[in-house]
Amino acid sequence: MDHSNCIFCEIIEGNIPCEKIFEDEHVIAFLDIHPVNPGHTLVLTKKHLATIHDLPNDIVSHLFTAVRNLSTPVKKAVDATGINIEMNNGPDAGQIVNHAHVHIIPRYHDDSYRHWPGKDTTPDALFEMGNAIRGLL
Ligand code: AMP
Ligand code: ZN
Repeated sequence: MDHSNCIFCEIIEGNIPCEKIFEDEHVIAFLDIHPVNPGHTLVLTKKHLATIHDLPNDIVSHLFTAVRNLSTPVKKAVDATGINIEMNNGPDAGQIVNHAHVHIIPRYHDDSYRHWPGKDTTPDALFEMGNAIRGLL
């Protein structure tokens, strides 16, 4: 996959600085330069892959194991009372950097970060939706 002009590949290659938290063979984690709250951390695959749909299971396993292992130290470091784990996949889902990454976002009671609104649905609509997705497994 083409990773020219990828800012996260530049960080991984050491050409652009970052506040690095963790690195191993498969993943790297550093602080987000525009944090939702202090401690907001990005965890990403070293290989340039765009979205969750492109990640082989072994890389998913490394990525989310690192996310899980980093969540507690991030939360403790900033005395957060909650943590969001978020991954934006595709521009319409809010992905700006086209290199798969997971956000660890520290949260507090009544902080300014809002959840998305839910839509009303019906049991029939849920059943049909469930069938549609199960049919593609
Ligand atoms: P996303 O919308 O999921 O693609 O999020 C990309 C994130 O990368 C944003 O939260 C940015 O603040 C963050 N970001 C962009 N450039 C840098 C950088 N050079 N160092 C650290 N974080 C960055
Ligand atoms: Zn990249």
